Amino acid sequence: MDFSVSEKMQTILGMIDEFVEKELIPLEPEFLTKPSTNLLPVFEEKRKMVKQMELWAPNHPREYGGMELDLLEHALVSESLGRSPLGHYIFGCQAPDAGNIEILHQFGSDEQKAKYLGPLVDGKIRSCFSMTEVELPGSNPVMMDTTAVKDGDDYVINGQKWYTSSADGAEFAIVMVVTNPEAGRYLQASMIIVPTDTPGFNLVRNIPVMGHAGEDYFSHAEILYQNCRVPQSNLLGPEGHGFVIAQERLGPGRIHHCMRWIGICNRAFDLMVARARDRIIAPDRKLAAKQIIQSWIAECAADIQGARLMVLHAAWMIENVGKKEARKEISLIKFVVANVMQKVIDRSLQVHGGLGMTDDTILAFYYRHERAARIYDGADEVHKISVAKRILKEYEGKRVR
Ligand SMILES: Cc1cc2nc3c(=O)[nH]c(=O)nc-3n(C[C@H](O)[C@H](O)[C@H](O)COP(=O)(O)OP(=O)(O)OC[C@H]3O[C@@H](n4cnc5c(N)ncnc54)[C@H](O)[C@@H]3O)c2cc1C
Repeated sequence: MDFSVSEKMQTILGMIDEFVEKELIPLEPEFLTKPSTNLLPVFEEKRKMVKQMELWAPNHPREYGGMELDLLEHALVSESLGRSPLGHYIFGCQAPDAGNIEILHQFGSDEQKAKYLGPLVDGKIRSCFSMTEVELPGSNPVMMDTTAVKDGDDYVINGQKWYTSSADGAEFAIVMVVTNPEAGRYLQASMIIVPTDTPGFNLVRNIPVMGHAGEDYFSHAEILYQNCRVPQSNLLGPEGHGFVIAQERLGPGRIHHCMRWIGICNRAFDLMVARARDRIIAPDRKLAAKQIIQSWIAECAADIQGARLMVLHAAWMIENVGKKEARKEISLIKFVVANVMQKVIDRSLQVHGGLGMTDDTILAFYYRHERAARIYDGADEVHKISVAKRILKEYEGKRVR
């Protein structure tokens, strides 16, 4: 396994780090205290700069204007961009668009690609992914109430979804619906593209999450689909293949998320060390002189490095052995990195004392927002069970002394 960073990537990462430091981190005080919509013109300006630097859409296909970096390369980019909550959005590789771009590219019809893929990669429009339902467990998504019933040339969709992230201001949703209730458990659902201006697509509210409902890209919506009618040509991929396609969306997506979380860890760690070095806690003493703080610094450094290597290894496995064979590694990183991130943010916040609770640093934002990492894309417990089952199976018939 070789995780050395090529010269090309060193240059790219250097440019990204500098951009995040000089152009994005200075926007954060306003981002943290005002509606993000106030900043949309500035975001557009920064996105233009990224395009001029030819760093736009690092993970997306070249034919649509992206850089087409491979998974390991983009993992490193994701780490750099994770240092700011604005990073991925400004560079055109933000979730949920990134996943939607992948599946549109892989499964979209020519017509769907022409209509949605180009503008999406270009950042002219945004999209959302609408799967989780209010009344049924997202952890067991085969339990789904939202249906799409054929009527003439159309599908008519009815159901209630929530946590449809970034639906506010999105051009279209990719909605997971039951189309084939008589089929086997994993072949009942399909993905359908629903433009958000379709009658019957009702954005009920942006859900308040940890005290903030947010707006536009930075929000999570509840959506009521009421006799929402779209042409059958909006079906994405084959009918009944919703979960097959969802599986495709998750592997690389987890690497992107986990490396973004490592970027967040790096930022929180830097802030923790800097604060410990600067904060005077007695006339002749800085906080960094205390053993307990030193222990936290050492532990966090070890945790971050371990988690980072696990993610790079999982990305390497996906690229070199295959997504299917890397399932255990993908599940492992999902809960390990989410928990490392939570611990590092918490320790950093603690070192900052009262300041850590304010929005004068980025820590409170990360503390609120990134708690969700242990829930979305599979809760910790679900991944742990899945890993344990695989390991137990590996030991079947094995003689251990
Ligand atoms: C910030 C955020 C953004 C999101 N964005 C999107 C999005 O864009 N699109 C979308 O469709 N969804 C999205 N989601 C929803 C997310 O995918 C679900 O919340 C997740 O799948 C869990 O489903 P649930 O909330 O229904 O919890 P449940 O399925 O009810 O599970 C609740 C808890 O039960 C425990 N649990 C569940 N199953 C098991 C098990 N088998 N064994 C042991 N314990 C178990 C876990 O602790 C779990 O946290 C988002 C969620 C959040 C928080």
